[in-house]
Amino acid sequence: MISKDASSILEYFKAALNDLRVEAVPPENICSDDTFLEVDQTIKTIRAASAELGNGNLSHDIKGKGYVVGAIKNLQASLRNLTWITKTIASGDFSQRVHFLGDFSDAFNRMAEKLESSIRELEEARSHFEMVFQAIPDATIITKIDDGTLMAYNHAFMEATKFTDEDLTVGSFNICDLYSDHSQRESFIKKLETDGFVENLEFSFYGKDNEEHIGLISSKKIFIDSIPHTLSVIRDITELKAIEAKLQQSEERHRLLADNAADVIWTMDLEGRFTYISPSVEKLRGYTVEEVMTQSQEEVLCPGSLIQMHEGLARAVESVEKNLPFQVFRGELEQPCKDGSTVWTEATVSGIYNEDGRFIGMLGVSRDISERKLMEKEIRRLSITDKLTQSFNRLKLDETLEQQFEWSKTSLSPFAIIILDVDHFKLVNDTYGHQVGDRVLIELVAVLNENVRNRDVVGRWGGEEFLIILPDTHVTEAVVLAEHLRKAVEKYPFTTAGQVTISLGVSAFKTDSSPETIVSQADTALYQAKENGRNRVEVM
Ligand code: GH3
Ligand code: MG
Ligand code: MG
Repeated sequence: MISKDASSILEYFKAALNDLRVEAVPPENICSDDTFLEVDQTIKTIRAASAELGNGNLSHDIKGKGYVVGAIKNLQASLRNLTWITKTIASGDFSQRVHFLGDFSDAFNRMAEKLESSIRELEEARSHFEMVFQAIPDATIITKIDDGTLMAYNHAFMEATKFTDEDLTVGSFNICDLYSDHSQRESFIKKLETDGFVENLEFSFYGKDNEEHIGLISSKKIFIDSIPHTLSVIRDITELKAIEAKLQQSEERHRLLADNAADVIWTMDLEGRFTYISPSVEKLRGYTVEEVMTQSQEEVLCPGSLIQMHEGLARAVESVEKNLPFQVFRGELEQPCKDGSTVWTEATVSGIYNEDGRFIGMLGVSRDISERKLMEKEIRRLSITDKLTQSFNRLKLDETLEQQFEWSKTSLSPFAIIILDVDHFKLVNDTYGHQVGDRVLIELVAVLNENVRNRDVVGRWGGEEFLIILPDTHVTEAVVLAEHLRKAVEKYPFTTAGQVTISLGVSAFKTDSSPETIVSQADTALYQAKENGRNRVEVM
């Protein structure tokens, strides 16, 4: 049996160790006992230290001695150490390990290793993403949807906008400031909110240089930390747009020129097929563009001009095949019109090559030269016509003589000439005046022309002297004609002057002669006719 005092001491220690609140009271007489006080103090120290540890307070100062207090102090130190290591790991230093907590150490260290590898993987993935993000050739940005704050951008974005890293401080740069038209941003966000993405939306924006750019934006709505962002790829199409506009402008201008030019502008392939022809062709030939596009070459050109075109085409094909420079073709071509007439055009044809120097077709310009042709004809007519009598002049006679002589020399076909002179013409002038004399010359030409064949050439040799060239005519036939002419003039009633006679000299082509000798022989014959009394025909 233990004493009552011992029993109350035990009750007190039991309460001090087990109960939350110490209600037991030790016997009065023991309260000053040193051993009791020491044990009581140790129990109180353990109670307080355990409570603080339990509450997570690791900085509580544990006073006291003895094994149990020492063990609690060790535990506190271990937990402090663990806290420090955990903090070190949390700050990214994975070199620390725990060795003092047995099984827990292993579990903790494995956790730390796992954390380290996960974070390394995450880092790798992040740097991989960063690399890809920077490598995207088009400007790419991540922005907050609600306020447009720029969260990430790549190199291409800097190039496109000319902003530097300093300008684009992440978190403070606002993408909304770049929009030149804010309604564009609003409609962009609206589409993004409803569809979750935007594809190739055209918008204009300002770069640092304050120049307006045109961009093509494609965006996707993404979430970062549950906050909606946009991942956008922007393609700068400013230059493309400018080139496009220029191209369209120049195309329109050329079309406008071609469509409205008086000249006919056309393109053709090497097979001679039209690939384009301007509407002015209708004014030129009466055919519509549609009709001309289906016409064969024979319908486009008159036979003589068709040969010219075939030669031109052959040359073009050769130069293209041999890679030689295209020789510009220039030619006067006669073309059939819808009304059955023909029109003369001057065509200039050059090669069209693309930027790589590859031949892609021919470009031609056809100009109406009918008027020029008429003018040329008129100039030619005037140049070979005698002004007073409107018969041929000396120039035409010389040309014809030369040609006829050459022809007879090769073909051995005969030809003859007649030179005639008005008898006593001076007297006509003296009697009736120069104007009556002129009138006689005009009427004389009419009489001559009336009595020769179409092929015969009647011209004024000079003064009141005339020459007639007679192709395919033997000298005897020429003499007959000369006699016939003499009589016709003799009986013709000339205005005011009445009867006028002429003297004629005839000569003919001989293989050993020349144009000059034929003329001089006829001249001699004429002289003889005058000598022999005028109003006669002589032959040499
Ligand atoms: P012949 O019978 O010998 O030929 O005598 P002719 O009077 O005809 O000869 P001549 O050569 O002496 O005179 C020619 C005249 O013709 C001289 C000239 O004034 C005239 N005559 C020359 N050309 C013209 C012309 O265009 N108009 C006029 N009215 N007279 C002209
Ligand atoms: Mg005379
Ligand atoms: Mg004369």
